[in-house]
Amino acid sequence: MKRVIYPGSFDPVTFGHLDIIERSLNIADELIVGVLNNSAKHPLFSVDERVAMIEEATRQFSHIKVEAFDGLLVDFAVKTGANAVVRGLRAITDFEYELQMSQTNAVLNPNIETVFLTSKLQYAYLSSSIVKEVALVKGDISKFVPENVRKRVFEKFNLKERADEQD
Ligand code: ADP
Repeated sequence: MKRVIYPGSFDPVTFGHLDIIERSLNIADELIVGVLNNSAKHPLFSVDERVAMIEEATRQFSHIKVEAFDGLLVDFAVKTGANAVVRGLRAITDFEYELQMSQTNAVLNPNIETVFLTSKLQYAYLSSSIVKEVALVKGDISKFVPENVRKRVFEKFNLKERADEQD
C-alpha cells in the first residue's frame, strides 16, 4: 500500500494544487493532503477553513484524506503511515528550496522519499499569493480556483457583491 502525503499551506487551494492532487492519485494507493498549521506564516484562512475548502473541491475523488498537521513533516508521515511525500515544481525558482527541504527530510528520516511532479504549463504561473493579490483588488479569480474557493476568498475580503456574482 503506497500512502503518500501532499503537504502545503493551501492558503487557499488553487487549480495548480488540484492538478497535483489528481495526478498523485494515479501513482498513490491513498493520498493524504497535509494542511500545515503554521501560525508564523499568518495565513488568510484558518487551518480548518483550508481543510474544508480542499475537502469540498476533492469530493469527486476517492482514496483521499485531508488532514491538518503541525510540526515536522517526517513525523506526520510516520504518524499516518505514509512512505512518500509529493511536492509540485512550477519553475526553477521552486527548485532550490524544494531540493533543500527534501534533503533535510531525508536526513531526518531516510525512510520517507520525496517525489516531485512538475506543474502543468497552464498552471506554472499560479500561486495562492497571486489569487489573494488579484482578489484584493476585485479581479476575476475564477480561472485560478474552483467556485467554492472563489466565494470564500471574496467573503473573507468582505466583498459580498463579488462573492454573490455567480449565484
Ligand atoms: P508551501 O507548501 O510552500 O507553503 P503551497 O501550499 O502553495 O506552498 O504549495 C504546496 C505544494 O504545491 C508545493 O509543492 C508547491 O510547489 C506546489 N504548488 C503550488 N502551486 C502550484 C501550481 N500552480 N502547480 C503545481 N504545483 C504547485
